[in-house]
Amino acid sequence: MNVYIVTDLEGISGIDSWDQCYPPNRDDPAYQQALRHLTEEVNAAVAGAFDGGATRVFVVDGHGVNENKGFVTDLLDPRARKVYFATRNPLRLEAFDQSISAVAMIGQHAMAGTINGFLDHTQNPKVICRFQINGQESGELSQFALYAGALNIPMVYASGDEALCDEARRIIPGIATTPTKRGTGWATCQLYDTAEVRRRIRHDFANILRDKKSWPAPLHTRTPIEITVEWAWSEPADSLGRIPNVQRLSARTTRWWIDTPLDLYDYPNANWKPIPPPAQP
Ligand SMILES: [Zn+2]
Repeated sequence: MNVYIVTDLEGISGIDSWDQCYPPNRDDPAYQQALRHLTEEVNAAVAGAFDGGATRVFVVDGHGVNENKGFVTDLLDPRARKVYFATRNPLRLEAFDQSISAVAMIGQHAMAGTINGFLDHTQNPKVICRFQINGQESGELSQFALYAGALNIPMVYASGDEALCDEARRIIPGIATTPTKRGTGWATCQLYDTAEVRRRIRHDFANILRDKKSWPAPLHTRTPIEITVEWAWSEPADSLGRIPNVQRLSARTTRWWIDTPLDLYDYPNANWKPIPPPAQP
């Protein structure tokens, strides 16, 4: 059984400030400490995956600031196979194919616009206010679940703050979750005991992997897929609105279409254009 894990930083236990996730420079001590927390939490998930019957575990560091280099090499469980975002334009995940049985997210945060979601955002904090997929409010968890769903692979597990766990269960009924902290405001939270959280991550992830009959169904959405993004101000919409096949709905809102969930991570740019709008969306 091959298992694929995408990680983020904001939802890792032991992390409770903006600076730990968005440091002034890479040598910042608080950021370096956050990367150790990330690696140890990934190790707990990797251990849980093997406990639950996995034979191969792929891990990809999904926190943009880390540029795929967030795991502390000396600390990372050597059984974890580190992979990357393989290509851009279009963006694809390395080693992600039909051989994967199940996917999980570790350290994930809630979608932009979630009350008491710790550092809630979708891709770009403070720039994207709202991201909708076929009219549904969506965040990074929905994006990856649909990406996996395109290959009929289910997302079975997620860890992150309480708001992220609520979001996961709302979007994917039956998913197993482990909360790591409780958000109390946009950049404030109450941390849970780190050792206990990691013990539970290992236990909860192993449990759901062991019981295949309890796995949630792969997540799907109708195609072509309508993407609507509301930006924090009108400048991003000005720029995107000039790209072919992007529609400008209002000062701050743009819309485009894609024909596969595999393109959910792509934003229109000079090298990547969305598909033409359907005749009757
Ligand atoms: Zn992140």
